[in-house]
Amino acid sequence: MNCLILSPPVHQPSEPPAGAYLLAGALAARGIAAPMLDLSLEFFHYAMEQSGMNTKPALKYMTAPPEGVYDTHRHAGHSGVIASALRSFAASFPGWSLTPMDCSPPRGLHRILDTPVSGTPFSAFLDRVLDPVLEKHGTSLVLVSTAYLSQLPATVELAAFLRRRSLRFLVGGSVFNSLSSTGGGLELVRRVIPEVVAHDGSDLMPDGKPVLDSITHPVLLSGRPYLSPAPVIPAAFTTGCIWNRCLFCPDRARPFRYLPEDTLRDFIASAPRESMIHFVDSTIPAHRLPGVLEALRRNRARFFGFARATGEYLAPGFLDALAASGCSMLQWGLESGSREILRRFHKGTDPDTAKKVLREAGGRGIRNYVYLLFGLPGETGDDREETLRMIREIGRDVDFLNASVFNLPLECELVRRRGEFGMELGEYDAGSDVIRLYSPFVCDGRDPRREAKGFLRGEFGKDPAVSRILRNTPKWFRAAHMAFMGPDSPR
Ligand code: SF4
Repeated sequence: MNCLILSPPVHQPSEPPAGAYLLAGALAARGIAAPMLDLSLEFFHYAMEQSGMNTKPALKYMTAPPEGVYDTHRHAGHSGVIASALRSFAASFPGWSLTPMDCSPPRGLHRILDTPVSGTPFSAFLDRVLDPVLEKHGTSLVLVSTAYLSQLPATVELAAFLRRRSLRFLVGGSVFNSLSSTGGGLELVRRVIPEVVAHDGSDLMPDGKPVLDSITHPVLLSGRPYLSPAPVIPAAFTTGCIWNRCLFCPDRARPFRYLPEDTLRDFIASAPRESMIHFVDSTIPAHRLPGVLEALRRNRARFFGFARATGEYLAPGFLDALAASGCSMLQWGLESGSREILRRFHKGTDPDTAKKVLREAGGRGIRNYVYLLFGLPGETGDDREETLRMIREIGRDVDFLNASVFNLPLECELVRRRGEFGMELGEYDAGSDVIRLYSPFVCDGRDPRREAKGFLRGEFGKDPAVSRILRNTPKWFRAAHMAFMGPDSPR
């Protein structure tokens, strides 16, 4: 068997899509030819060329900033040019919108499942880019890996394209796993793409073992450059989450498993030299980090990923070792500064410890990217104020901030136990999409999401400590590009 792995547009073109990359690498490690073509990367380059705008200086900056480091202001300017070019390209397709991170069709996602697709931003692109690849790389099975809803419109069209070419193919990826386990609408997708499967890919492994038990770096077919100053390589210690207890989490259904330690070490050691390793774990298991630090150092690699702000990071010498081994940025899901909120939803972290961890990490030059979650059931004005106070206290050590409003997964522990939290599930708006991951809700007659939005627009967003961090946080090309941001970003 030889396979071709395709990742449809659109996901951001700064790094290879983790799901497709790791699937291709797992098949390659088992002796199956499985090159990967990142159609999203190809599509962004195509769209920029077709836009008629001069994006060359922006692309040059994104791929080769001075000394390999982005400056906040220049990055904002150049990513703005790229976003304008994409907007200009999309303007030829009425109702479509396209950004460096997202794509939406006219009148909602479900419309693309109702109406035969043609004349979309992807139609001419697929003919031009995919046919030559298929001709050159004969394949017995095409595997389409779709991770985000932003890829769904192109996935529908790609499936139709592959069918017209009489190719055998399967369509999988985390978005279908999510629709199947915690969302709704998968049956509608399957009406249009019967080839959709919702599993973790282990069925495709000839040895029947978990996908990431054997992994190598796949062959990448695109000749186009990723928009980053160094190769960004996805890697993982685990599948599922090591904590797996937060009541609001949509990922708790995923079974937890460690990769074999030597498999990950070899994978890092064989990555292109001076790569940026992106640990894509739901949360990096801190106790496993020491096992890969030497491989990172020897390869002169840097790394970033999600971490839990627990006392493990305060062990003597621990953060020093991370900083000395290329830890560029840690993404902390702090969620709230309210101890009561963290306790109620089983977050398992403490605000005082978290503040200390961030101070210590920031003091060692590790960038801190903080995620906050407002609008959880029962959240009060006092809870929100505590979160704001926490940010004021540690603001100098917070480089980037993502303050989001809670979305209730259609299926999760919190939904099952909603009575305990005074929650009632609400009704969808008439115009809302039927492909859905989330459910409306009210809590003791109140809408905490609406209250949270008001707070974010008002007091929180206007606070000088918060607005300084938000100004520093890039609008486009998040995560991977933040790990490349220079120390000249105002602290
Ligand atoms: S730490 Fe994150 S991924 Fe893990 S259970 Fe909590 S919310 Fe989910």
